Amino acid sequence: MKPQRILVVGAGHVGLYAALRLSKKLRSWEAEVIVVDPQPHMTYQPFLPEAAAGNISPRHTVVPLRRELRRCTVVAGSVTRIEHARRTATVQPIIGPAREIRYDHVIVAPGSVSRTLPIPGLKEHGIGFKTIGEAIYLRNHVLDRLDVAAATPDPDVRRCALTFVFVGGGYAGIEALAEMEDMARDALRYYPELRPEEMHWVLVEATQRVLPEVDRDMGAYTVAQLLKRGLDIRLDTRLESCVDGLVRLSDGDSFRADTIVWTAGVKPSPMLEHTDLPRDDRGRITCLPTLQVVRDGTVVEGAWSAGDCAAVPDLTKPPGNYCSPSAQHAVRQAVRMADNIRAVIRGRTPVEYRHRHAGSVASLGLHKGVAQVYGIKLKGFPAWVMHRTYHMSRIPSLNRKVRVVVDWTLAFFLRREVVALGQLHDPREEFVEASSAVPARTGER
Ligand SMILES: Cc1cc2nc3c(=O)[nH]c(=O)nc-3n(C[C@H](O)[C@H](O)[C@H](O)COP(=O)(O)OP(=O)(O)OC[C@H]3O[C@@H](n4cnc5c(N)ncnc54)[C@H](O)[C@@H]3O)c2cc1C
Repeated sequence: MKPQRILVVGAGHVGLYAALRLSKKLRSWEAEVIVVDPQPHMTYQPFLPEAAAGNISPRHTVVPLRRELRRCTVVAGSVTRIEHARRTATVQPIIGPAREIRYDHVIVAPGSVSRTLPIPGLKEHGIGFKTIGEAIYLRNHVLDRLDVAAATPDPDVRRCALTFVFVGGGYAGIEALAEMEDMARDALRYYPELRPEEMHWVLVEATQRVLPEVDRDMGAYTVAQLLKRGLDIRLDTRLESCVDGLVRLSDGDSFRADTIVWTAGVKPSPMLEHTDLPRDDRGRITCLPTLQVVRDGTVVEGAWSAGDCAAVPDLTKPPGNYCSPSAQHAVRQAVRMADNIRAVIRGRTPVEYRHRHAGSVASLGLHKGVAQVYGIKLKGFPAWVMHRTYHMSRIPSLNRKVRVVVDWTLAFFLRREVVALGQLHDPREEFVEASSAVPARTGER
């Protein structure tokens, strides 16, 4: 029998876990697994806030694909089109012409992208918080703004440099805001020119609460903690524009800010528009609880999806509810999907995915947190310990777990690093400048 070819589109939480399981559970004569992702690593996104805050080395929050997926074929590139009717995907490698890959089964898991709005100035001045590149950039940028503020004699430049705006109060936004503020406050001990009260950290949230993933009282506790730290929390407020860094809010306030971070939700990968797979009104691939793609009640044979880009019914809730876009669902769906693909290949019936969302844990900076897991509510230090323990247990591979724990231990004894490496973002600048200063040698002897 010819091995079935399984193509995995995207090696994030879903793709990595599914590929790992398939390659372990299926024999080589049963299936070959091909994984396509433009990045050479899976990013453990729940650790991005800690990476941005300098508690974990950014390298240790990502998992190298080639090391973990030794039994799979890893292709560095992006899938640009899926024609499932022909069982063919078009792959654009990072270099060279596009090529087609044929498959028997496809796992569509390209995840999501930031859900932005056409707000004037946002495209030019905003930054998202979904990738390791954004986390590294934000860390260097915030520390760099402290250097700018400490060096300038101009009070307006100083105020603008020290104003940091985060839009969106879900766990990504709250954790990013709280961790970055905590890091900047920590860094100020080395800046005698600056006072903590001069920093202006603003959260802009369109609804009346933060952290919709936990109960209202836990959201209210989080707001109270952030207010106690002097953060400016604007609920029921929208960002209206930020042209040239001038932030205008729907409550009528306006001020200048050098830093505008957009964390107001996600939408499915736009690549899905170039597929012939069925999608719902929010652009997600429609799935059965078995993670099989479904069109008008009929299974689309050989097509599977899960994670942020998929509408998977949540069987623990009344009909019409779907699993939330979270790592918690993504990794569990990946394992169920891999087992279902194995079942189908071996002529058995797939099993439905069912998982009651356990709750959420969020870090609010060093030794501070909020958690609600299986109905148990924790605040402050115990919640922070739970956040670290939970995510340490979840990041894939022993190698990463050990590195993360070593990072935390070093930061505990030696304090975290608070130096900006802004040169990372333009490493050739100095060399180009030096080269430009040398006179041309044409005809010289
Ligand atoms: C800052 C932050 C904090 C978070 N914290 C938590 C938390 O505490 N708890 C929790 O449960 N969830 C958390 N999440 C959400 C969680 O990380 C996501 O729900 C989860 O990553 C979704 O998994 P996925 O596999 O669908 O997508 P991803 O993990 O995003 O993976 C998608 C992969 O597809 C690749 N890809 C994209 N387009 C293509 C293409 N065209 N071709 C090939 N490959 C492609 C990408 O490079 C990526 O590797 C957080 C998210 C963020 C941003």
